[in-house]
Amino acid sequence: MDQTSGVCELERLLEEKSDILLVGHFNPDGDSIGSMVAMHSYLDARGIRSTMVVPSSFPEFLHFLDPENEIRDFVRQPDAALKAIEGSDLFICLDFNSMSRVEGLEGPIRRNGSPRVVIDHHLGPELSDFVLAFSKSDISSACEVLFEVLMKMPDIDGKVSNLPARCIEALYTGMMTDTNNYANSVFPSTMDMASMLLRTGLDKEKIQSAVFDNFSESRMHLMGYMLQKKMTVLPEQHTAYMILTKSEKDRFNYKEGDTEGFVNLPFAIRGVLVTALFTESDSFIRVSLRSKCSFSVNEFSKAYFNGGGHAKASGGRLYMPIEAIPHYFEKSIEKFIASYQGTPFDK
Ligand code: 5GP
Ligand code: MN
Repeated sequence: MDQTSGVCELERLLEEKSDILLVGHFNPDGDSIGSMVAMHSYLDARGIRSTMVVPSSFPEFLHFLDPENEIRDFVRQPDAALKAIEGSDLFICLDFNSMSRVEGLEGPIRRNGSPRVVIDHHLGPELSDFVLAFSKSDISSACEVLFEVLMKMPDIDGKVSNLPARCIEALYTGMMTDTNNYANSVFPSTMDMASMLLRTGLDKEKIQSAVFDNFSESRMHLMGYMLQKKMTVLPEQHTAYMILTKSEKDRFNYKEGDTEGFVNLPFAIRGVLVTALFTESDSFIRVSLRSKCSFSVNEFSKAYFNGGGHAKASGGRLYMPIEAIPHYFEKSIEKFIASYQGTPFDK
């Protein structure tokens, strides 16, 4: 379905349904929260009721997008999240391509059985799970996909000034965070979007400050410690990785979101083209992978880390003692490179 007929179908669903549930992915990031808040605020301005639900809590630095604590978090407010799901007659899924990405909410959402729409930018969406998909991967973010959709809605009529201010702020935040402040996944269309949003008088500095200048002192100490003590560079593989254990998290008074951006730090080293960050939690080790070259961390994650994502930014999970990570990672990357179709370290 092309985007224009998709927009007509979305318009029809919005007219017909009365209790819309907006859902983001597990460990929601700026793009997931931004796209949910943007959609919520657009619907609100049209007088359409919607509820925002996420499978797990989101970092403190994104709370400025939700000043009235409207987002229901399944970990902290399981009853409220489940109740909202039960009463919904349409689900709009934002910033994920597979229902497995909503973890504990997948069962309740499937049991409800109402139609699901997806608005996303990951590779390989599981289309059979959705009645309507707005899915593109040559784009910065789910927020940019949503921006394109909203601009085609009849009431917006291609005019950014018809979008509510909160919607504009949320769209900008999601795009800015998913491009890592314009460092990756920036397309000409992304700059067009940025410029259109900025022309409305959006306070870019406020968002910049809320996202990037809002960390604790202990997080800065943790960053210094990770760079000095916990970073391993593998020059032959053009790779660097860092490992953060639970006891180190305790030592540095770790809070959700404190490792935001750490995975990108080794890219500042000449020759490093692939990075990884392993973070131990109670039940698994969270894996973050990034690439600046043809090395597909999406394929790498699917093969060795029970995850996926994008070619240049992916995540996953491991279930093994944290001490086993260096050996596991170094062997995995050797095997992956040995079996690579083509050259992994091209631009
Ligand atoms: P991050 O490293 O920031 O957690 O995730 C980077 C990208 O990988 C994001 O686009 C995210 O959606 C995706 N991702 C993170 N964790 C997982 C996972 O466990 N499974 C899959 N399929 N994708 C993931
Ligand atoms: Mn995203």
